[in-house]
Amino acid sequence: MYCRECGNSVNDRAEVCSSCGVRPLNGQNFCQSCGTETKAAQELCTKCGERLKNLKGAGVGQDQPSGLVNLAACCFPIVGLILYFVWKDEKPKSAKSVCKWAAIGFIATVVLYALSFFLGILSETMYYY
Ligand SMILES: [Zn+2]
Ligand SMILES: [Zn+2]
Repeated sequence: MYCRECGNSVNDRAEVCSSCGVRPLNGQNFCQSCGTETKAAQELCTKCGERLKNLKGAGVGQDQPSGLVNLAACCFPIVGLILYFVWKDEKPKSAKSVCKWAAIGFIATVVLYALSFFLGILSETMYYY
């Protein structure tokens, strides 16, 4: 294959390109299959039709904690807990974040229950006296 950083031909199993020192699939300048120049945003090689591989983009882009999911986890801690177990291997960052928000939501719920419980006792006491 070709190094996606500098376009040099490298061994298929090479960890790092021998001519530029970058991981061959970490670059965005050349097609890994035919060595044609590519642009950063390009997904397919226009010359050979091969899907352009990019190690850097793939892993990081998908593991972004989502605000909406965190909010859901905060309102429904059980959802956060389930997502945490589903994600903990593939998306450790999102899992950690969703777990944190589930904990916050859980504590908030407990506090609210405790508060309404005490308020209930208080209003009953006031009712009897
Ligand atoms: Zn290179
Ligand atoms: Zn190509």
